[in-house]
Amino acid sequence: MSVIRVERLHDGRRRVHLATADASARACPACGVFASRVKGSATTRPRDLPYGERGLEFFWHKRRWWCRESACPWKSFTEQIPQIPAGARLTARLRAAAGCRVRDAGSTVVQAARDLHLSWPTVMDAFREAAGEVTRAPLPEVVVLGIDETRRGRPRWEQNPETGKWQLTRDRWHTGFVDALGSGGLLGQVEGRTVADVLAWLSTTPLTWRKNIRHVAIDMSAAYRAAIRTGLPDAIVVVDHFHVVQLANKMLSLVRRRTTAEIRGRRGRATDPEWKARRRLLRNREDLTDEQFAKMWNPLLDEGKVGQTLLTAWIAKESLRNLLALARTSASRHQVGQARWKFLTWCADADIPEVRTLAATVDRWWNEIAAFIATGHSNAKSEGINRVIKLVARNAFGFRNAGHQRLRTRCVTTRRARGHLRTA
Ligand SMILES: [Zn+2]
Repeated sequence: MSVIRVERLHDGRRRVHLATADASARACPACGVFASRVKGSATTRPRDLPYGERGLEFFWHKRRWWCRESACPWKSFTEQIPQIPAGARLTARLRAAAGCRVRDAGSTVVQAARDLHLSWPTVMDAFREAAGEVTRAPLPEVVVLGIDETRRGRPRWEQNPETGKWQLTRDRWHTGFVDALGSGGLLGQVEGRTVADVLAWLSTTPLTWRKNIRHVAIDMSAAYRAAIRTGLPDAIVVVDHFHVVQLANKMLSLVRRRTTAEIRGRRGRATDPEWKARRRLLRNREDLTDEQFAKMWNPLLDEGKVGQTLLTAWIAKESLRNLLALARTSASRHQVGQARWKFLTWCADADIPEVRTLAATVDRWWNEIAAFIATGHSNAKSEGINRVIKLVARNAFGFRNAGHQRLRTRCVTTRRARGHLRTA
């Protein structure tokens, strides 16, 4: 394009009159023969990237040509250039910028539309086009696959008018597949969290890619474990320490509430020693100073039944943590076996139902926990990606369209792998 002249409008904006400088615009789009006879002229107002504070508007004076080729189906045509194809009102670079804002810069569609003075559907179209590069790209090679669930929106409860009971009528989940060791980010997402949902996604991936996977890190979800046994029979399932310790902490809180209720006949109060110690009980032993530890331990020891039950449960938690701490230490099978035996016998002797349940759960998941101790693979990447997924949903004030949500989160979590977060 070449500039013919620039007009200053009364509101300070500038109107730029353009002519076509690209000689190839004279070639007929149908037959490619260069035209020489002008039919007339036309003016369009293409939109481009914002420039300057006041903005520019463009008037493109283009010519209509008669096609010279007598056999050509098009008798005449109007000039076009690759940046502004016939019928387009935006330059290709404006569309690309709108798409990249949403795909790579983490912008919402609404915000990108406001910034670039475009409409929401235009930006969404541009984003879909830009996101195609991400979704069409082959999956990166993955050795450790992470699978995790994310809640989509809020669960909805409704009262049954006949029985008067509250029922869960809507509880939507996404299952995410993550490169748990490399930087591949989110590899895919499906709606739901059942065995069938996981298998459906796995069946869309190439067989050679699946054969590469050695380990799969999951939280303690029986559905995911079952799905992996069917879909990835050669992979080893790993449950990381985070979810196991989380379970032990939940157990401690349950024991505290139950014993308080049973022995005191009421809920906990701020004056109860077990209530005072409730946060310290959940902290790691090595993170407590001796003073903090004494403040937790001594009052509970003097408290009688409530305190002693709680301390027994606390020791069970800590001995489970000692067992899990053997990960990444290249501990021998003998050491691991001993730590496990110590934990299980403590739980068996404890005679506290919650502690026994914990021991039973750990036993049921022992193969997966042992795999974690041997390899140290965790699902931390999934948890980190979950944080980003939730951030995107909040920025967008929730999504109505689950497909759009998956596309957005997919793009936003693979930026590092695609090099969009490299500051250099
Ligand atoms: Zn032609």
